Amino acid sequence: MTVTHEVTNQAPPLGDFSAADERALVEALRREGGAWGEPEVVALGALAGSAEVQDQARWAEQQPPRLHTHDRYGHRVDEVEFHPAWHRLMTTAVEHGLHAAPWTDGRPGAHLVRAAKFYVWSQAEPGHGCPISMTYAAVPALRAAPELAAQYEPLLAARSYDFGLRAPLTKRGLIAGMSMTEKQGGSDVRANTTRAVPAGDGSYRLTGHKWFTSAPMSDVFLALAQTDEGLSCFLVPRVLPDGARNGLRLMRLKDKLGNRSNASSEIEYEDAVAWPVGEPGRGVRTIVEMVNMTRLDCVLGSAAGMRAGLRQALHHTAHRRAFGRELDRQPLMRSVLADLAVESEAATVLGMRLAAAVDRSQAGDAGEAALRRLALAAGKYWVCKRGSTHAAEALECLGGNGYVEESGLPRLYREAPLLSIWEGSGNVAALDVLRALTRAPEALDAYFAEVEAAAGADRRLDAAVAGLRKLLGGLGDSERAQLMARSLAERLALVLQGSLLVRHSTPAVADAFCASRLDGEWGHAFGTLPPGADLAAILGRARTGGDTA
Ligand SMILES: Cc1cc2nc3c(=O)[nH]c(=O)nc-3n(C[C@H](O)[C@H](O)[C@H](O)COP(=O)(O)OP(=O)(O)OC[C@H]3O[C@@H](n4cnc5c(N)ncnc54)[C@H](O)[C@@H]3O)c2cc1C
Repeated sequence: MTVTHEVTNQAPPLGDFSAADERALVEALRREGGAWGEPEVVALGALAGSAEVQDQARWAEQQPPRLHTHDRYGHRVDEVEFHPAWHRLMTTAVEHGLHAAPWTDGRPGAHLVRAAKFYVWSQAEPGHGCPISMTYAAVPALRAAPELAAQYEPLLAARSYDFGLRAPLTKRGLIAGMSMTEKQGGSDVRANTTRAVPAGDGSYRLTGHKWFTSAPMSDVFLALAQTDEGLSCFLVPRVLPDGARNGLRLMRLKDKLGNRSNASSEIEYEDAVAWPVGEPGRGVRTIVEMVNMTRLDCVLGSAAGMRAGLRQALHHTAHRRAFGRELDRQPLMRSVLADLAVESEAATVLGMRLAAAVDRSQAGDAGEAALRRLALAAGKYWVCKRGSTHAAEALECLGGNGYVEESGLPRLYREAPLLSIWEGSGNVAALDVLRALTRAPEALDAYFAEVEAAAGADRRLDAAVAGLRKLLGGLGDSERAQLMARSLAERLALVLQGSLLVRHSTPAVADAFCASRLDGEWGHAFGTLPPGADLAAILGRARTGGDTA
């Protein structure tokens, strides 16, 4: 045998790791009232980083779902076939309660603990997070129909993943989807044309199309359709209580940039049986309860993607040498890595703070509900928008290897824009910030109360808060305000992240964040932290594990 070459100077495989091995995450969990969930988060984080689960993630993406519209005899079947790895990922997620646990767990911090678990588990494979997130989010919307909720909520919250087309109430556990977007209207759902006609027995019949409905193998969907009263929300089962198929036709699966493990379909409703959820004509108000929860998961999913990319970048650059030393000892690469670490931590602390606000608002804290209203919109805008840029830079830290599928970075890169598009694309999220400001003035008070908890701790943060007040004072008429909406959403998110980091992170991370994002000469790419930034301290924190006791 001829030895053609020896392999040198390549990073070893990352191997088993723990996705919970992150100080910022564990500190947030303890600080915000979720210490009791730490063992579960740690266990799930270790599972997420295991070779076995990494393998499942690879298979789930490489063998994407396939749609079977008909059987061999020509009967419609409308079923989606998945690789077994997908089902294993779903099973783990459901068994760990990521799909609904907080709705049946009365402990304070239940949403926070679930958020931390969703965050670490999303680092394994983000695609199946879609149906998991939609199931979690469906519950509060469904509660607008107490009778339906009494029947379906226990099954949505059950820790059994029971795949297959059977009457929902005969199954051990259920998965829920969301069916809003139509060809002619996505963000503008009021343009929906799907029609719902009363059947005379309390149910309705839906006829129309949906341009995007992900996870079409879900057992039930929350769908929007027009009634005489206006746009209304409905619960639509795939299989009827008597076991017959409901009138849902899966037309095709989307051929997507990323999110390949997950199926996203075009659906047609043909006289589909549906039950009303909430008041007829108040469909948007009802389904927004669902959207608010999935938006939180978009923030958490983006933060998780950043942490996953950072981990790969830190690993690769610690082992790869160029120009005489390891890449992570080259000053400019250290600046890039530190900047990625600062961004990642800022996303994580914001995501966890938002999850804590869910817990507190569920417990009746009006101030936290008001904070969540504004901060979630700003966070959805900014953190999700930063996800793509972060993924691109993390990928580049691996050089050419990062562009190759086997590295796993392309999967992160492809996934990132989606979190910014669905559940309110960038502009829509920024405009939602404006809406919160005009319709919920108490949200701004709650926001300033939160960020000013750090008043006096950092002059750049103080100046940024003052600058924000000035910006808000100059919004002017509606058109001018719209033109400023992105800047405003960005600023709101950055100031909140800055305040959280100043209060809760290390001086090095807080200083680098304030010096770059809130003040001075921040460049437009990662790796432009001011020269005084304490790179060693930032990288030390990003590398070390979760135990801060
Ligand atoms: C992979 C994938 C899965 C999906 N799964 C689902 C699902 O399960 N269920 C579901 O209901 N939907 C789903 N969607 C649809 C998704 O929620 C929509 O694509 C999204 O909300 C944007 O709507 P749209 O595509 O109609 O774009 P549009 O609404 O046409 O928006 C296009 C662009 O215009 C911007 N825009 C919109 N309004 C304004 C305005 N007033 N001012 C300035 N800019 C504006 C938007 O920000 C966006 O950048 C999915 C989408 C994708 C890509």
